[in-house]
Amino acid sequence: MSTRSTPAWGTRAPDRPLEPMTIERREPGPRDVAMDILFCGICHSDIHQARDEWTGGLFPMVPGHEIIGRVTAVGALVTKFAVGDLVGVGCMVDSCHTCGSCGAGDEQFCEKGAALTYNGTEMDRVTRTYGGYSSHVVVDERFTVRVPDGLDPAAAPLLCAGITTYSPLRLNGCGPGTRVGVVGLGGLGHMAVKLARSLGAEVTVLSTSAGKEKDARALGASRFLVTTAEGVFEGNAGTLDLIIDTVSAPHDYNAYLGLLRARGTMVLVGAPPEAVPVHPFSLIMGSKRLVGSVIGGIAETQEMLDHCARHGIVSEIETIAIDQVNAAYERVLKSDVRYRFVIDLATLRA
Ligand code: NAP
Ligand code: ZN
Repeated sequence: MSTRSTPAWGTRAPDRPLEPMTIERREPGPRDVAMDILFCGICHSDIHQARDEWTGGLFPMVPGHEIIGRVTAVGALVTKFAVGDLVGVGCMVDSCHTCGSCGAGDEQFCEKGAALTYNGTEMDRVTRTYGGYSSHVVVDERFTVRVPDGLDPAAAPLLCAGITTYSPLRLNGCGPGTRVGVVGLGGLGHMAVKLARSLGAEVTVLSTSAGKEKDARALGASRFLVTTAEGVFEGNAGTLDLIIDTVSAPHDYNAYLGLLRARGTMVLVGAPPEAVPVHPFSLIMGSKRLVGSVIGGIAETQEMLDHCARHGIVSEIETIAIDQVNAAYERVLKSDVRYRFVIDLATLRA
């Protein structure tokens, strides 16, 4: 198969910084959409994987799964997209298309294992995938979504942070009056606040950073609790219906479960590498549910983008040049991002 050399930034080993490199992308096949990447968000998952914190990483690795691009070419069988369209690509670039999960629109649960946008392979299980910290990418049209008019570069983080929080909010009954707690006000957390508000919920932010209160309220939260403050868990026991936990580092789930009312649900989307003990009585008393959630399906991602366009929801972003990516990683690790870094890939083409 013919390929095209493509400039990118990636890492050659877990203990190395990101650096310029060249990768090979396939030429578009009949069902493919080729796009110039305009913007790519920096997700904390990029850092977990670039540093191999989840283990099993494939190096060299080019991270990036919050991609906004402009279509430059389409294959002969492509029906959904045309040259010039603004499109998005999230965490997956292909799946088997035949299993029950794919048939149900849950490509993220593909029984053969979906092809991840980076740190993975195509469905042939041989050809490596490389992510959005690069100048262009070629993706099957079935894994390309339409970016509605009016959503600008600040829409890039919707492709992961947006869908990862939208899906569990919707699936766990978030609606008018639901008391939703969002743990961690970072990339995912700030999208959870905006999306829960847009669904009519009353939002409480639970944060370790007292300095984020003003922002949390501006994003739509009506309560802000500093989780390191004395007595905060005891004083607010049973006050939440649904918790979305977006925290990237290990923390005590038992304490947060105490904030749920009886039969309430806590959803883990934050993915710390380490195991955290959960006491059975944290769940038994009050018949509470502790569940996980991973991104969302492709149709659901399109639904989320359309919802965001209707409600005027984008991310709060800080745009950076590609050569600032290592510094940006350090700031994410210090919870010092308001609230998503987005790489302007024009700086890679320049
Ligand atoms: P992020 O921007 O770094 O936000 C994480 C937030 O967690 C921080 O802003 C901080 O908020 C809080 N936090 C950080 N360290 C903490 C600690 N030690 N104790 C308590 N709170 C802490 O990260 P992100 O991009 O939103 O990603 C968050 C997590 O979700 C990552 O683990 C990522 O891999 C995972 N993720 C999962 C999925 C999925 O499908 N399930 C998809 C994408 C990402 P405060 O300053 O407010 O405390
Ligand atoms: Zn992500």
